[in-house]
Amino acid sequence: MNKIYGYVGKIARINLTDSTVTEVSTFNYVPKYIGGRGVCNKIFWDEVGPGVKAFDPENKLIFMTGPTTSTGIPTGGRSTMCSISPNNLPEQYCWSGIGGWFGTMVKFAGYDGFIIEGKAPEPTYIFIDDGKITFHSAKELWGMLVHQTQKKLEEILGKDVNSIVIGPAGENLVRNASITTSNDSVAAKAGFGAVFGSKNLKAISVRGTGKVQAGNVEKILKLHKTMGKPIGKTNPIQYKDSFAPRPHINFPVPGGVKEGRVACSYGCNQHCNLILLDVKAGIGGNEKGRTNVVNKCVGIYAYQMIEDSGWTPQMSFNTPQNDYAGCRFISGDGFTPDLSDPAINEGFLDRQLGDIVNYWDGDYDRGNVINDLCTQYGIDRWDVIIWYMSWLAMAKKEGVLDDIDFGLGMEIDPSSEEFMKRFLEMIVYRKGYYGNIFAEGMARAIRTLGMEKYGKTIYTGRVSQRTGNQQIIPISLESAWGHCCHWAGRGFQGSNDITCWLPIAIELMTSTRDAQTNTHHHDSFDYYLEVRNDPCHNPRVASSTIFNEHCAELKESLMSCEFQLPQIFDKDIESEMFEAATGIKMTHEEIYLAAERIKNLFRAILIRNNGRTRDMEVNEVYPILTYPDADGRTVSWEDFNHLVDMYYEQRGWDKKTGWPTRETYERLGLEEVADELEAIGKLPEK
Ligand code: SF4
Repeated sequence: MNKIYGYVGKIARINLTDSTVTEVSTFNYVPKYIGGRGVCNKIFWDEVGPGVKAFDPENKLIFMTGPTTSTGIPTGGRSTMCSISPNNLPEQYCWSGIGGWFGTMVKFAGYDGFIIEGKAPEPTYIFIDDGKITFHSAKELWGMLVHQTQKKLEEILGKDVNSIVIGPAGENLVRNASITTSNDSVAAKAGFGAVFGSKNLKAISVRGTGKVQAGNVEKILKLHKTMGKPIGKTNPIQYKDSFAPRPHINFPVPGGVKEGRVACSYGCNQHCNLILLDVKAGIGGNEKGRTNVVNKCVGIYAYQMIEDSGWTPQMSFNTPQNDYAGCRFISGDGFTPDLSDPAINEGFLDRQLGDIVNYWDGDYDRGNVINDLCTQYGIDRWDVIIWYMSWLAMAKKEGVLDDIDFGLGMEIDPSSEEFMKRFLEMIVYRKGYYGNIFAEGMARAIRTLGMEKYGKTIYTGRVSQRTGNQQIIPISLESAWGHCCHWAGRGFQGSNDITCWLPIAIELMTSTRDAQTNTHHHDSFDYYLEVRNDPCHNPRVASSTIFNEHCAELKESLMSCEFQLPQIFDKDIESEMFEAATGIKMTHEEIYLAAERIKNLFRAILIRNNGRTRDMEVNEVYPILTYPDADGRTVSWEDFNHLVDMYYEQRGWDKKTGWPTRETYERLGLEEVADELEAIGKLPEK
């Protein structure tokens, strides 16, 4: 077999119960499953059967890099984790992407990834030191905040180590606890910090001084020039008198704002992360109570949430002249569109205003305190800002909380810095009746409190700036699988239009989490023009959904990020990245077949382990689509099911059950999966 580059060839199997380490060859899984999430899916399919719960020792947490990781390919420095998510409702197999230098160091230490299994008898941390893996007591670290833990590990192991750690939220099995790297990149969405906690695992540190050989260095240098048109700049630090990351969040800041741009991981030339210097700390901080916060994505909403962000077709759709990856526009990274583009005359840049929601007014210090608290406690900042705070604001305004006292010695008020400090402390340390309820995540908290009142009550403060009408929305803001609305045409960032939120609804339907936090739906502008009048009856909506799902699989398997992929008008970018890393030539068709294989294996896991069916997922995702989008549009049951039919058909899945057919599995080289499912009656009848 020709030499394969990019991979280091080994995966460590780390058993916490008996403190043993064995090794698995990465080539058992690649190149068939590419890397990252693809390999995680295969290991999970082989090793974790039905009936295992998120906090069981039998649940495995799989961390994988991709072939591009540590090769210097831009955006290739990221990694991914997979396991049963405690934050999902119901608990299901899920993934979480993570930046940082940790993944690169793991490869320099001689591993493409590791499988964490079992449960340590006492608080423990793992040290991967250039191929040697050891277990250490974490009794001294247990209870420490995230930054304290990082600092202590550097004191113990040296400044040349890189660690992923949990905070008190993970230790107390708070279901949306996160895992944080040394540069505050987090794996947050699925609550894997609580899986670490359930295994008595406080941290994993790594020292890697080795090298990774890439397949085609010239191609990497070429990719550095062509990929992502780097616009972010690391320095100099900018001094601004106001905080205006978005048009509608602009308020003066006493003493000014000090901000810069940083990369989140090794080899990235795009530096999209916003860092704010010398801001008010939520907890700890320096002797003056100041700290620095890395702001990504939702962090800015902690500062103000009056108006939902607007949307322009250009944010979700590309033209040959304006061919940029999804997140670039959504992140507000200022760039100048090519105005000679004829699409401009057809509404490409037409701004659609977001809904007025009036949740909380502007406060720079409060925003930084909340962002810092989430980092230090190790709790999903997304869930805290977008879901807990929004629900508190709406429920309070609708009088739903009038008969509730959280016992915090003050009035319930999400716009109060002091209230949010006490509220988060109550959750993270599971203090009292309400501390335990909210530590179970919003989806379970609403059900425990009572869905009728605390979920289905209509918020009367949402006003569409497009129709001028008040728009009904339930205070639960729930979309599906224990997650809240996001780019769903209503709720948070709900200003995109039906050509976007319909495929996003299908992507959520066949997933186990809100994928839009790291994979924003994207397609060409002419798709938008073609389908916008009757999207439920246009097969192009189904194929656009499938294209985006496959892009996401590749982004999380190669590794890359959505500042780079998908590139709508550069269909070879993924196979180029793969060849640059591994030296293996793959055509666009071959690498997308691998993506389809990875997606169908994910599907098989949900069918075997969680009994996933058409009825289950359509009934899960449809209810929120009956509430008006920002244009007042909804979708009927018949129309939505017509679109689902088209999607299943294009996927080679049975329309009645939603299960892939044997032909589909065999076409993808998944015969053994079909055999196992047939044996348990989970293959569609002929
Ligand atoms: S573009 Fe941003 S998110 Fe992507 S790898 Fe670079 S810094 Fe990270």
